[in-house]
Amino acid sequence: AEDELAKAGWLLNMQHLSLGDKIGEGEFGAVLQGEYIGQKVAVKNIRCDVTAQAFLAETAAMTKVQHKNLVRLLGVILHNGLYIVMEFMSKGSLVNFLRTRGRSVIHTGQLLQFSLNVSDGMDYLESKKLVHRDLAARNILISKDNVAKISDFGLAKVDLKCKDLTRIPIKWTAPEALKHNFSTKSDVWSFGVLLWEIFSYGRAPYPKLSLKEVCEKIEKGYRMEAPEHCPPSICILMNSCWEMDPGKRPSFKKLREKLEKELKAQQEG
Ligand code: ADP
Repeated sequence: AEDELAKAGWLLNMQHLSLGDKIGEGEFGAVLQGEYIGQKVAVKNIRCDVTAQAFLAETAAMTKVQHKNLVRLLGVILHNGLYIVMEFMSKGSLVNFLRTRGRSVIHTGQLLQFSLNVSDGMDYLESKKLVHRDLAARNILISKDNVAKISDFGLAKVDLKCKDLTRIPIKWTAPEALKHNFSTKSDVWSFGVLLWEIFSYGRAPYPKLSLKEVCEKIEKGYRMEAPEHCPPSICILMNSCWEMDPGKRPSFKKLREKLEKELKAQQEG
């Protein structure tokens, strides 16, 4: 993987990187703000060697995908383990963005726009046959111009493999994926939960239910109620993502088209 990355120009030079403040804490190390040849970047440092090797292989795959709604990877540096250098998303994670601003600041049009941004990025990943596995509002980042972008695609696979089973994000994961059948359709299930998070302004899903209760109730057909003031069409959309049969769930292409229409109608109305 290292040779492949080097040949394609994805191995960056440590000398050009200046590191600044810590902006977040990831599963495998801190996320720092930095600058790489005049560009603001975010840098994830993975110190554990075994994890670094696994991530390196995945980053090779990440270099092949580029889209306006995916957080852009600039490259990697092999130093103190691994540095992953990516574009800086100055407004942080979507879940924090929604929680800190809330209903009085963010209107429905903006919520629809974020939903559309994510479906657009996922439509692209779907077309490349890439499965995210950890789609959730905490893994969506907001740029300075309020564009929502998907982060950690490709990395989630390593992430989940390294985590013990108790750390699988149960409340976001499709029933069949809990039995290790991940697919684009299990990403669609997670997207439904993400829609719920967006329209509830960053609430934690299945409030008051334990993980065990969620699993049991989902199997029996229980689904979350729509968040307060959620447009009925969005409520229908999220429930279609939660079909037990993966084949009955919509594609991301379909979801994107529906959200485009919804946003248009909202802007005209
Ligand atoms: P992990 O997936 O390893 O747990 P995350 O990717 O979620 O780590 O990063 C942790 C936090 O760091 C995020 O919630 C976010 O606040 C911040 N962060 C991560 N990537 C970026 C980025 N590209 N730009 C700005 N902040 C980021």
